[in-house]
Amino acid sequence: MNVRFKWTLLVGLLIADISSADTQVDPETALKLLRGQGAQFEKQVVQVTDNVFTAVGFHGANTSMIVGDDGVIIVDTLMGPTSASDALKSFRQISDKPVKAIIYTHSHGDHTGGASAFVGEDNPAIIAMQNFGSAHGVDDALTPIMIRRGARQFGRGLPPDQATNRGVARADTVDHDRGRGYLPPTTTVDVDVYKTEIAGVSIELHSSPGETDDALFVWLPQEKVLFSGDNFYQSFPNLYAIRGTAYRDVLKWSTSVGKMASFEPVHLVPGHTMPINGQQEATSALSKFSDAIRSVYEQTVQGINEGKGPDLIAHEIELPEHLKDEPYLVEFYGSVSHASRAIFAGLLGWYDGNPTTLNRLHPRDEAQHVARLAGGTSKLTKKMLRAMDDGELQWALQLSDHLRWLEDADRRLVLDTKIRALRGLAAREYNAPNRNYYLSYANELESGQLQEFEIQTKGEKQASAVLPSAANFPLQFPYREQIDSVLSDSLSKSSQLY
Ligand SMILES: [Zn+2]
Repeated sequence: MNVRFKWTLLVGLLIADISSADTQVDPETALKLLRGQGAQFEKQVVQVTDNVFTAVGFHGANTSMIVGDDGVIIVDTLMGPTSASDALKSFRQISDKPVKAIIYTHSHGDHTGGASAFVGEDNPAIIAMQNFGSAHGVDDALTPIMIRRGARQFGRGLPPDQATNRGVARADTVDHDRGRGYLPPTTTVDVDVYKTEIAGVSIELHSSPGETDDALFVWLPQEKVLFSGDNFYQSFPNLYAIRGTAYRDVLKWSTSVGKMASFEPVHLVPGHTMPINGQQEATSALSKFSDAIRSVYEQTVQGINEGKGPDLIAHEIELPEHLKDEPYLVEFYGSVSHASRAIFAGLLGWYDGNPTTLNRLHPRDEAQHVARLAGGTSKLTKKMLRAMDDGELQWALQLSDHLRWLEDADRRLVLDTKIRALRGLAAREYNAPNRNYYLSYANELESGQLQEFEIQTKGEKQASAVLPSAANFPLQFPYREQIDSVLSDSLSKSSQLY
């Protein structure tokens, strides 16, 4: 039994009893699944063909070397010069030919920030799509919150005993020099298909908008190797990132991956995770990946047209039977339900179509009504604690969010319960961004680094939501270093994006 088949079987068995589209299982299973996924980014140089080598696990993403007659071509350059130099050192044990070209599959920082390490004295061409850099997705004005939410999604501040991985990347990457080795493209491609020869190697670059609009895939027609960038990796794709992203055009994404499948590659080198070898395996993976994205889009659109809101669609949506157990479609990184919410918002905006939600009650007023229904604040508190005892962690969390608005609530108890509920949910999660976010948020609440709400004293009319801002969010562990790094680096806004 080969490793791949065994893994497929394991995943199938472990998640066979998941009844809804969520990613919560028992804690032991969640850890087993995440540890199994870790095999996708163990540090190693993988020989893909006689002349193609991929460095996996040197940072979050992959970097590859194509060896030609009188030089080498590098596809993607990792996040910073330290990890890139480390990968180059390994590549140099295979070939000492000069670097003739660097190709960026897209502009995210984990693929571009280490370029300077590969350049040396060689002065290579740096090639990317003409619209390179168009895909940052969010406004610079949002940098403060993006740093915090990104850190939570990736679990950057988690202590070793809480860290697992990032779904398609290891947790222990070297990040202090993020973006410091970035070099802008010297050659940009303004056609859909660009065919060239570099160092005697025939290379085709195909525009493939998806995760970003500026994405391309690299095709080696002779070796039948396809470098997909981040439009394919071995996990259900991050059609929406919980750190906060603008709408990613998932239909274009599906189409681009379908186009890759039409090449029937013999070797598929993803932007993250291990390469897939074999024409049947690689083609089928691309084709099913494309189908999965399209299915999520189509199911969401169908739900929208039936008048359903995003909550209902998110709870009902599932991958079709023939796709859900494929190891490269398990929701280690992206989430099917989150994707449906993003598609809803991307196509129609925030409003779910139900007039009840046009002007919802102020959360404090709703909390007061809920407390009255429960028979008072102390009874509502008991309901929250009972939910914890019963393992209804999500319900406990929702009740804690009501209770924190109530002046007569035991706020310390409510806060402690929220922290425990978040950690309980994290333990059951095999979706890495969710797990990392729950844990990071709980740690911030516990340390006092994050104060969700300051309840005003009696008599004052308004309770104020204290959102994390520079003023009430002390810049200490784990963010100080990141904010320094970001503020001193104009490339920072792209430097944490997968
Ligand atoms: Zn990436």
